Amino acid sequence: MSGSSRHGLAVTDVRSRDYTGGLSRPFVTSRRSVTEVTGILTEVELDDGTVGHGSAAQTFAVTGESVESMRAAIHGPIAEALMAGPVDRGLRGHADAIATSCTANTSAKAAVDVALHDAWARGLGVPLAEALGGDASTVLRTDMTVGLADPEAMARAAVSAFEDGFTVLKIKLGRDQRADLDRLKAVHEAVPDAEFRLDANQGWDAKSAVRIIRAIQEAQIPLQLVEQPVPKHDLRGLAAVTAAVDVPIMADEALNSPQDAFEIAHAGAADLLNIKLAKCGGVGSAMAIADVAHAAGMSCMIGAMMEPRISITAAAHVAVAHPAITLVDLDSAEWIDDRALTGGYVLHGDRLHLSQSPGLGLEPASTEGNER
Ligand SMILES: [Mg+2]
Repeated sequence: MSGSSRHGLAVTDVRSRDYTGGLSRPFVTSRRSVTEVTGILTEVELDDGTVGHGSAAQTFAVTGESVESMRAAIHGPIAEALMAGPVDRGLRGHADAIATSCTANTSAKAAVDVALHDAWARGLGVPLAEALGGDASTVLRTDMTVGLADPEAMARAAVSAFEDGFTVLKIKLGRDQRADLDRLKAVHEAVPDAEFRLDANQGWDAKSAVRIIRAIQEAQIPLQLVEQPVPKHDLRGLAAVTAAVDVPIMADEALNSPQDAFEIAHAGAADLLNIKLAKCGGVGSAMAIADVAHAAGMSCMIGAMMEPRISITAAAHVAVAHPAITLVDLDSAEWIDDRALTGGYVLHGDRLHLSQSPGLGLEPASTEGNER
């Protein structure tokens, strides 16, 4: 399997098929409500026959991409850029070719970039985390998300997650500000020993965010962090919230590239950064964001869209490989009835253990979907 390194890294095929996974419960944020995940599964094949896997989900609300647009980008400019270039440009050269093949389309790019990284690490015979310089035996601790609902339903979901071993809960808020405080109070009352991350998904403005966070503190509900309180383009508002409260504020929707990370760090607009492969276009870009954070003395969380196990596994490998990524929000595969690939990692309660197999360590489980 190491033949590809002797001859360079030659990509001979890029394949995809459509993907649908039902959700165990509706996923509701201030921006959207979904009951199933549709997306795309990718394969990148090297000239020695090594195959890597990637995936991405349709996420109109965040990246603006559909299954159709991802398919068009993958089999158009991305595959073209990947297969047309010199084989001796190496992994970084190939990854740059994907990144610059077209504008936007970050989920499509991530789906191919992850498959390329999987194939590359499989060829090296080591887990991706180790190929990236990390220790694949590192155990991660993830939160569990409680979707936006009425206070009673959120409290029930929080109790269920807590009983399953998730002591850090990510609470979705950001709709009707007065009710948000009631929602959190109900959750806190139900699981007083849990730690809370809040995610408003851009649902507040700067002044109301400050007001709500102060009200939460007055209610003596401890917060680990608050994610994206204000609209993504409002960096001034984000900075104002960050300056006004002592709870760490995290940029999510506002962060889509290493350049964004630099702007946010330079402006002091947030304390923390939420990295997602689907937002930034892949492994290299995610590591570059973490590098910027590291240089700026900031920490990162790694998260994901509501997307398949392949994407979650790749994100976990990146988390293990970078010291600036200290927080993990990788619960989405647990929501999905995912029959595409198995393995990659196991969750024991909230502890995520990576497979020690080469690459992402995933195994095919079925062949449903439309091969292209
Ligand atoms: Mg978020």
